[in-house]
Amino acid sequence: MKKVLLAFLGVAAMGALCLFCLFLPERTDIVVVGGGAAGMSAAIEATERGCSVVLLEKMSYLGGNSLRATGGMNAACTEEQKKNGIVDSLDSYYQDTMKAGHWLNNKKLVRLLVRNSAESVSWLEHMGLDLSDVGRLAGHSISRTHRPAGGAPIGTSLIPVLTGQLNKRGIDVRTENRVIGLLHNQKGTEVFGVLTETREGRQYKIKASAVIIASGGFGSEPALYVKMDPDLKGFKTTNQPGATGDYLSIVEGFHPALVDMSYIQTHPTVEPNNGVLITEAVRGNGAVLVNRNGYRFTDELAFRDILSREILKQPEKSAYLIFDDQIRKSLSATDTYFAMNLITKADTLSELAEMLGIHPIVLSQSVQRYNQLVMLGKDRDFGRNDLPSEIIHAPFYGIRIVPAVHYCMGGLKINEKAEVISESGGPIKRLFAAGEATGGIHAATRLGGNSLADAVTFGRIAAREAASLARR
Ligand SMILES: Cc1cc2nc3c(=O)[nH]c(=O)nc-3n(C[C@H](O)[C@H](O)[C@H](O)COP(=O)(O)OP(=O)(O)OC[C@H]3O[C@@H](n4cnc5c(N)ncnc54)[C@H](O)[C@@H]3O)c2cc1C
Repeated sequence: MKKVLLAFLGVAAMGALCLFCLFLPERTDIVVVGGGAAGMSAAIEATERGCSVVLLEKMSYLGGNSLRATGGMNAACTEEQKKNGIVDSLDSYYQDTMKAGHWLNNKKLVRLLVRNSAESVSWLEHMGLDLSDVGRLAGHSISRTHRPAGGAPIGTSLIPVLTGQLNKRGIDVRTENRVIGLLHNQKGTEVFGVLTETREGRQYKIKASAVIIASGGFGSEPALYVKMDPDLKGFKTTNQPGATGDYLSIVEGFHPALVDMSYIQTHPTVEPNNGVLITEAVRGNGAVLVNRNGYRFTDELAFRDILSREILKQPEKSAYLIFDDQIRKSLSATDTYFAMNLITKADTLSELAEMLGIHPIVLSQSVQRYNQLVMLGKDRDFGRNDLPSEIIHAPFYGIRIVPAVHYCMGGLKINEKAEVISESGGPIKRLFAAGEATGGIHAATRLGGNSLADAVTFGRIAAREAASLARR
């Protein structure tokens, strides 16, 4: 009888222990919120530094907006630039970034970005990413945008490479797990984990020595971007549906300092019906912009804010991107647009103009004039600083484009350690952030290619600092 009673008590105790474990929060060194370029880079770097990591992603797939990136990633003084005979300098990259941001950028963060950019490129290359093609995007004074050979889109190469590294290291990655809050001390000054919700609505806690917020921007949340910039009412977006600015509610109780929230970048060249972004590299490799009447009206390589404004001044608040077969062949990223039937093709410029509903004679004259300027080596009409080639190789191509919401320059204020800063000025303990969820680096306008550079560089900085806390 005694034996039966003891056995019964043993089973009951085990049951109680299991039940207790079920409600006990899990524990890891570092939780990363968001599985885009910033979060994935942070998770890999933290694991390299000996930490256990849980990466939580609310969507059913990894990649975020990073997966959509096309034009490339910026870096100065890289091996790839040297191989291509390009002479760049850290100062030139710094000046271009600051100029784009109207000199409102956080100078210390920009210096860090610039200094670490080449190392970020070689880190990715060592993991197997091809970044051998170096092109020039708008606003840069030199070619420093790195992408796969043949000008292929970067995001669809980058994300599989990073995913492969997460798998190789056995990192605990959980998709369809949305972070909804932070675990913190009573005063709300120190973070020690996250509260997460699964797709089925189950909520659970994970305790951690540090949390890295890498949940991206809010380019898919019209209520928010129109509140920040009322002029964006009715604009389409290039962003993935998960870009809803969740960091705002996640860190709400901590009174974080927010910077540059009203600076929301529109991308000037987006196909209006499907919202497909036509990469800046098409202009970088030589395409021109004309309005419905066939006239060229701007420097195609102007900063995105200026270009978007110029397009909105044209008839029907739109414009047409015109290029030739040589440009098409220089950039395999354009293959997607052809596969989606977005591009109109014709053997002559006047035929192309007829098909697009543009004045044929004016279009031919505009392209002829542009070709003369290319031969001259100087854009006397609009001051474009790079004139790669004449538009003379048939067939010719055209597509109607409009500006659309693209990138949120503002976000959580961070310092050089990627610590999140509170309204009162000090860092919130054990809380880090990186990528589009942060503000300060790009300020008024982001240079094309600078976001991936930012996400990878600051994702790794956040991981390095978080890892040093975890090991203490
Ligand atoms: C069409 C397009 C083209 C672009 N091209 C380029 C380019 O060529 N070069 C360049 O430098 N930049 C480019 N950008 C910008 C760049 O891709 C992004 O800004 C950058 O990749 C942001 O990286 P991130 O990791 O911070 O955010 P993201 O890549 O957006 O990742 C954030 C992740 O967090 C997840 N998340 C959000 N909330 C939660 C939550 N509560 N819990 C868990 N997970 C959450 C999101 O679902 C997402 O997967 C482009 C953007 C777009 C939309």
